[in-house]
Formats: sequence, C-alpha cells, structure tokens
Amino acid sequence: MGSLEGKVAVVTGAAQGIGLAIATRLVADGARVVLGDLDADGAEKAAGGLGAGASAVRCDVTSEQDMTALVGEAVTRYGALDVMVNNAGITRDATIRTMSLDDLRIVLDVHVAGTWIGCKVAGAAMRAGGSGAIVNISSIAGKVGNFGQTNYSAAKAGIVGLTKACAKEFAKDGVRVNAIQPGLIRTAMTEAMPEQAWNSKMAEIPLRRAGEPSEVAAVAAFLAGPMSSYMTGAVLEVTGGRYM
Ligand code: NAD
Repeated sequence: MGSLEGKVAVVTGAAQGIGLAIATRLVADGARVVLGDLDADGAEKAAGGLGAGASAVRCDVTSEQDMTALVGEAVTRYGALDVMVNNAGITRDATIRTMSLDDLRIVLDVHVAGTWIGCKVAGAAMRAGGSGAIVNISSIAGKVGNFGQTNYSAAKAGIVGLTKACAKEFAKDGVRVNAIQPGLIRTAMTEAMPEQAWNSKMAEIPLRRAGEPSEVAAVAAFLAGPMSSYMTGAVLEVTGGRYM
C-alpha cells in the first residue's frame, strides 16, 4: 500500500516538468490527483497518461476564482483535499538594469500571489477535515539570489516567508505547510538557459550533475505524507549540495 493511499491531492503547474513529476509520484504512492495548469491540453494529456486516479483542470494560479474551482473539483470528484502542491511558475530573466516593472510584477504575481491563493483555498478545504499538507515550491534562488533574476529571487524568497506564516496560522487545524528549494533541475525551464549559464551552475554542484524532476517529486511526496508528520514551516533544499 502506498503512503498516500486514499488521499486526494491537487498539483498546480502539473502539465510538465517538476509538477508532472510530482503528480506522477503522488499517483504512484496511491493518491488521486487533480492536475491544474494554464496549459489545458498539456494538463489533459498528462492526466490521461496517469490513468483513472488523475484528472485535469485548466487554471491560472493568479485567479482566486480558478483556484477555488480547482480545489472544488478535487473535493467534488474525490470527496476531500489532503494535499496541495503549489508548483506553477514562470521566469522573466534580465538584469535589473533592463528588466521592466511588468516583468517584476508578473513573476511576483504567479509565484507569490499564486502560492498565497493556493494556501488560502486549500487551507479552507483542509480545515474542514482537520488535517492536510501543503507543499510550496520555492527555489534556491530565494536563498542566495541569482544574477539576472531579481524578480524570481524575490518571489521565491517571498514563498519562504509565506510558507512559515501559513504554517503558524494553520497548525492548530492540523494542516502542515512546508517548502522545497530545488537547485538546477532538468526541465523546459532550465533547458532554455544559455549553455554558458548551465555550465557555470553545474560547476557549483558538489554532486556534479543536475537533478531530475523525480528527485524533487520524492521530497514533495515525503512532505505530503505521514513520514513528515512532525514537520511544518520547514524549507528543504534539493540541490545536490549547491549553496549548502
Ligand atoms: P516548467 O516551465 O517546465 O513548468 C511550469 C508549469 O507551470 C507549466 O506547465 C506552465 O504551463 C505552468 N504555469 C505557468 N504559469 C501558470 C499559471 N499562471 N497558472 C497555472 N499554471 C501555470 O517549469 P519547472 O522547471 O517544472 O518548474 C516548476 C516549479 O519549480 C516552478 O515554480 C519553478 O520556479 C520551480 N523551480 C524549478 C527549478 C528548475 O531547475 N527547473 C529550480 C528551482 C525551482
């Protein structure tokens, strides 16, 4: 029996990359999963590949209405919400000298407001059941700050503060809130990176390789399940030792 047998989960940004790997792992561990993504076709296709225990909903994480409908789908279809993974993300890289205020605002909106809305709607659904686990996907950029990513680094640091504040507010209801800070993980987001930037990051990684989405997913499953029952407000780095 999987460690998430009978549990119901929602994963945002689950059409591809780390979100899809997390949804795949949660299904493998026994959960039924609703995949939310802006990319409706991608999410549909991804859910189709995961079998009867998965379904897809088109959603924009910056919309409270969409996120309420996403969580509502999990509760209506499967009867509850036990796990919420706030994973959807974007980048708009440039140095601050050339970055526009719009590129700051959109990145903050998707990561900080998107995760805040996810915590708010999931927290309300979980409170009703008296338990739950929320996993927020930050980034090591939120700890160290990345050159060319003032917007993204601020957003990912914001997710850490939000995670800890929510952990304090939700603890009395039996809801745990934790975050993951992945390092360099092989996905479409990082494959778009110039080769020189990729190589200079690789040189900083003690384990001497990029991580796979499944390696972030394993930690998300740990934070979602009973093995982390005494953890809340924690931030786990999944970086191959980079910036330890
Ligand atoms: P990705 O670009 O492969 O996937 C992101 C997904 O989010 C896409 O399916 C996209 O459609 C969806 N999305 C974007 N904006 C959305 C919105 N407003 N509403 C709903 N869905 C939206 O990226 P990834 O590499 O899998 O990244 C997933 C998460 O992990 C992100 O939060 C990212 O910042 C974080 N992260 C990634 C890395 C890495 O190295 N890849 C490192 C640290 C943190």
